[in-house]
Order: sequence, then C-alpha cells, then structure tokens
Amino acid sequence: MANDEKDQPSIWGQPFQKFATDAIHAGQEPEQWNSMMVVPPITVSSTYKQYSPENHAGYKYCRIKNPSRDVLETCVAALDGAKHGLAFSSGAAATATCMQTLKTGDHIISSNDVYCGTNRYIKKIAANSGLELSFVDFTDLKDVEAALLPNTKMVWMETPTNPTMKVTDIKAVSDLVHKYNSDVKIVVDNTFMTSYFQRPLLFGADAVMYSATKYMNGHSDVVMGLLTTNDEELIKQLRFLQYAMGPVPSPFDCFLVNRGLKTLAIRMEQHQKNAIAVAKYLEVNPRVTKTVYAGSESHPQFHITKKQAIGCSGMIGFWMQGNLENCKNFFTHLKVFTLAESLGGYESLAEHPAIMTHGSVPSDQNEKSGISDTFVRLSVGLENVEDLIADLDQALTAAVSSNFRKYNS
Ligand SMILES: *Cc1c(COP(=O)(O)O)cnc(C)c1O
Repeated sequence: MANDEKDQPSIWGQPFQKFATDAIHAGQEPEQWNSMMVVPPITVSSTYKQYSPENHAGYKYCRIKNPSRDVLETCVAALDGAKHGLAFSSGAAATATCMQTLKTGDHIISSNDVYCGTNRYIKKIAANSGLELSFVDFTDLKDVEAALLPNTKMVWMETPTNPTMKVTDIKAVSDLVHKYNSDVKIVVDNTFMTSYFQRPLLFGADAVMYSATKYMNGHSDVVMGLLTTNDEELIKQLRFLQYAMGPVPSPFDCFLVNRGLKTLAIRMEQHQKNAIAVAKYLEVNPRVTKTVYAGSESHPQFHITKKQAIGCSGMIGFWMQGNLENCKNFFTHLKVFTLAESLGGYESLAEHPAIMTHGSVPSDQNEKSGISDTFVRLSVGLENVEDLIADLDQALTAAVSSNFRKYNS
C-alpha cells in the first residue's frame, strides 16, 4: 500500500464537534465533589441521609438516582447531542422499558430483522400484554407506509440491522411516520453505530437506544442499556418506569461504562479502519460469495449510510462458499478471532447467527433475511489488522480448500 493511501482518513464525514471532549468532560466536572476528584467515584451507598423528612441533598435512594449513574447519564446525553440520557441494567431492559410506555391495544412496527432479543420481547412479551405488532422491511418505504395504523404508537428500527447490515433511511422513515401521526415515537437502536458515527435524533428519531454492552462500553465486561431523548413527555414516562420497574445498572457498572466512553472516539476510528481493510479482503476472496459492510461502497445502501452517518463501525457479515460443515470448520480454525456471541469490544469476534445469536428466530424468517448456514458475522476488533486478515485467510483456506474446486467449476 502506498504511504499516502495509508495516511488518508478513512471516514467520509467530519466527527461531531466536541465529541471527544464531551466524552471526556461532560458530566465529569471535579467541582461537583467536595474533594475535587478528577475521576468520578463509584458511589455504592444504597441510601442517603436527609436533613429532615423529604429535605435532602438531591439523593434519597440508589434506584431513583445516584451520583455514579448521574455522571454517566449526563455524558451519554451529551454524546448524542440530547437533553436527556438514562441508563439501564441491560440493552434488553432499556428496550422493555421503552415499550412499557405503550398500552394494551397500541400498535408497534418493527424492522423484520431486528436484534433477536428485541424480536423475542415483541413477540413473546409485548404481544401478551395486548400490543399489536407488525414486522416490516424498512428498506422499502411502501412497506412501512402500508403498516401504519390509527393505533400505531411506536416504530422501532435498527440501522444497520443485525446481522445482515441492511440500512434504513432514518429521515425518510421519520418524515413518513410523523406526517401520518406526529405522536408516533420513533426509536432507533443505534448499538451498531454508536453516537460517534450516527446521531438518529438529528434525523427525526424521538429516542435512541443502545446496548452499552457493545461499543459504548467497548471492553466486553459490562451488560448495560442506554436511552437518549429530547422529548420532555417521553423522558418523564421513562424516568418513572426506570424508577418504578427498577431495571437499573449498578454504580460499579456505571463507572465502567463512563470510563469506556472516554476512548469511544479513538476506538471507533480504529474499529472502522480495521473493518474497511477486512471488508476489502473479503470482497475479493474467492472463498467468499458475498460481503456486507455498511461502510463499503459496494453496500447496496451506502448512499444512505453516507447521508446519515459520518463513518461505520466494525460489523461485517459474509457468506462463505460451501455448506454448514465448511462454515463450522472455518470457526474451529480461527486463532485470533474468538468464536463468541456479542460484539463491539476491543477483541475480534466471529459467530454463526443461524445457530447462535439468531437460533431462536423462526428459520423461515431467518431465511428471508439471508441468515443462512454459510453466513458469518464478524465484530472486527482493535488488534493489528494484518493479523486479523491472516487469521481469516488461513481459516477460510482450511475450511473451504478440500472441496474448493467443486464450488468453482
Ligand atoms: C446486544 C444487543 C441488544 C441487547 O442488549 P443487551 O445489553 O444484551 O441486553 C439490543 N440491540 C442490539 C443491536 C444488540 O446488539
């Protein structure tokens, strides 16, 4: 690779102003503590002394509010350019809390290849409390339009989707839905992109959800969910539910995620650089039939990604030559990539969606969204990219070589 090519910035947009500064300073002011701590403390106290009944220093009980969570929630809101941020005990808890704002008889529209846990929640839990559901293909606006009903109250989308990396035009969907009924809440699961690359609130979304377990924390050592919004009515409801249902994270986990955010900007830059190189390698590999990376010009909706994001994370999907056996062989030969669920940590992971993360999704629905036996999902980490590519290369060669001829004749 020529030097000048190597030195070129890999992203197509400019990072949001003050992003890295806010990640490091928003909500972290030393002046808020008597001791002027530069690093916010882990505040483990479950309860707080009051001067006289209901006359207190702003804190009463840890589930309602505590300083470690406050610090994190303020920082996260700043990163999304939002007024409000809330932290939950998991991404699933953030999703459930959001959907708990709906009432029996309300209708929710979700993308059809939404995160499997969200699919499970909508079908097996929301449906039981009398919510009506529609799953649609968000890449086709006509599909979304046709699904809108007078009782539609929430539209839930993910972009890019997990794991087939379909990209939805957030603004086009928001405009369409809000024109139909401005009260419908649009929620975007922004786990794959993070606020570093994509701020859905800028494109008409009412709330943004994160599994902070993934990139936001980035170190694969916490399970947490986050929500951000500018909607004053919605935040009141969400705060009430956070307090009344109690799906809150521990102060220790808040401390860890708050620390993880300090390096979000540089981590995402490097995830992207590594992913672009891995995607380029896979795109021309004869043992790979198709690669999907939302940050690649070859992606069918790259024009949309480019419009609503300033770059793309480390999530790549690809289909191998061969069959399930070849694919299983590929996983067992990997040495640097770890075969494991989850994503977004510093370490590279590979997984088999059809059997692993999306094993609980009905197989006809998986087939429809392209999650076949030879489909692989990668979370490209922060290792030296030459080592990542060499690892994929040796595993693909070992897995497909014996019958490679058969598939190329
Ligand atoms: C992991 C994940 C979730 C669920 O979050 P948890 O923290 O595991 O509860 C939701 N959406 C997406 C896109 C995810 O990757």
